[in-house]
Amino acid sequence: MDIYAYKCKKCGTLHYPYRMVCKGCKENEHNEFDPVPLPKKGKLLTFTELYNLPADFMVSKLALGIVELENGVRITGQLDVGKPKLGMAVQGVVKVVRTGDFSRNYGMVFSKA
Ligand SMILES: [Zn+2]
Repeated sequence: MDIYAYKCKKCGTLHYPYRMVCKGCKENEHNEFDPVPLPKKGKLLTFTELYNLPADFMVSKLALGIVELENGVRITGQLDVGKPKLGMAVQGVVKVVRTGDFSRNYGMVFSKA
């Protein structure tokens, strides 16, 4: 299972999430992007811990982090780390993080690398 970033065929700029117009060359009118799997390793830039979650969450506490992946793309994901530290190396796995009536949302869950 992978999450994809979108690489501009003209200038090579990576986008995540998907954008209609390239933010690098701003001229990609035909939306020509190659899907590229996001790397799973990165470092933790910042995090926040949430308490008092709605009852349908299976956990009492949830940590969310912003991780800079090896290719420079930043992604928000859940943290499965006891005591998160800024700058720590983390490794992600792609999981269903939320299930709706008609959709499943995939996201990355990061643990200590
Ligand atoms: Zn471009």
